[in-house]
Amino acid sequence: MVSKIIFGRGSFNQLDELISPKRQGRNAPFIFFVDDVFKGNHWLTSRIRLSYKDKIIYIPTDEEPKTSQIDQLTEDIILEYSEQPSGIIGIGGGIVLDVAKAVALMLTNEGESKDYQGWDLIKNPAVYHVGVPTISGTGAEVSRTTILTGPDKKLGINSDYTPFDQVILDPELTKDVPNDQWFYTGMDCFVHCIESLTGTYLNAFSQSYGEKALQLCKEVFLGDHLSKEASQEKLMMASWHGGMSIAYSQVGIAHAMSYGLSYLLGIKHGIGNCIVFDHLDEYYPDGVDLFKQMKANHSIELPQDVCADLEDYQFDIMINVALSLEPLWENALGKNWKQVMTPEKIKALYQKM
Ligand code: NAD
Ligand code: ZN
Repeated sequence: MVSKIIFGRGSFNQLDELISPKRQGRNAPFIFFVDDVFKGNHWLTSRIRLSYKDKIIYIPTDEEPKTSQIDQLTEDIILEYSEQPSGIIGIGGGIVLDVAKAVALMLTNEGESKDYQGWDLIKNPAVYHVGVPTISGTGAEVSRTTILTGPDKKLGINSDYTPFDQVILDPELTKDVPNDQWFYTGMDCFVHCIESLTGTYLNAFSQSYGEKALQLCKEVFLGDHLSKEASQEKLMMASWHGGMSIAYSQVGIAHAMSYGLSYLLGIKHGIGNCIVFDHLDEYYPDGVDLFKQMKANHSIELPQDVCADLEDYQFDIMINVALSLEPLWENALGKNWKQVMTPEKIKALYQKM
């Protein structure tokens, strides 16, 4: 779990105070990975205080993190500085949070990041790392994974060393998120709740977080009299609880199939989950019903026919990526999932999207 957390509007102002005691010396910088949407945004960047050799690196978000990108960022830091950084601070959406976690891990673990995609392969504790989400939903701020696309798979580096040492939850940082992105990333959280709460891996730990997160999602996406501030605060806590819920259970069919869309077509996580979940009424009838109400409430139009022009071999690639995520299917459908979910069935679902 994340060991330290602060929450509150304006708490981002405490960043410097929080990290200063962790400074290891003049030659051991803090590296700030910042979502490039904040380039030139004085309101945010003026609050990042740089001393000695500290540096801001802006991270583009048009593509989700790749293992090659993580290896490059890690190598650049090793070559530029004589000492290990004092800390890595990620400020942004799920992409930037995952980049920060992955680089912090790779600075202390030899070799390439693709070798660590999987469960508990990391051997050494990461460099001190801090997460500051600026959009709510993924749960990347709380999870024990960092999701990377490698040469042959999209899979997280899941380990006890992956979670942030410190998280700053400042709901005000989410104030300028565009409406459609707010919905897609928020729905990532909603789907985490449904997949966790209806899954066979569910236990009391996951359920208690999942139920709270689901209630908050309903207030945010279906409630009427919520102020903007309350909505930002509730969705930030929903994301946290949703992430905690899947930490001790698993996600399910929407995530497995969304990984296929992402791997082949580069469709991003939030919107990919929405495209898939929209067609999963057979598996998650109540959840899909709520999803459609939320979609209508916020006038969201999802892309249609994203698989219309694909050839058979391309469907096979997506099906293989999806089916390789065995724990997700087992969570969704039980131990005998292979009898329930065949490649043909997955193909038929993709063909509807
Ligand atoms: P994202 O990081 O791509 O951010 C979405 C968009 O919102 C980007 O264009 C970003 O620049 C913009 N944005 C962020 N904050 C903003 C702000 N305050 N104002 C205006 N624009 C802002 O998307 P996401 O949905 O947050 O994250 C998706 C990523 O998270 C994927 O790479 C996915 O694999 C990963 N993920 C990780 C976990 C985990 O547990 N580690 C869980 C779920 C998803
Ligand atoms: Zn997700």
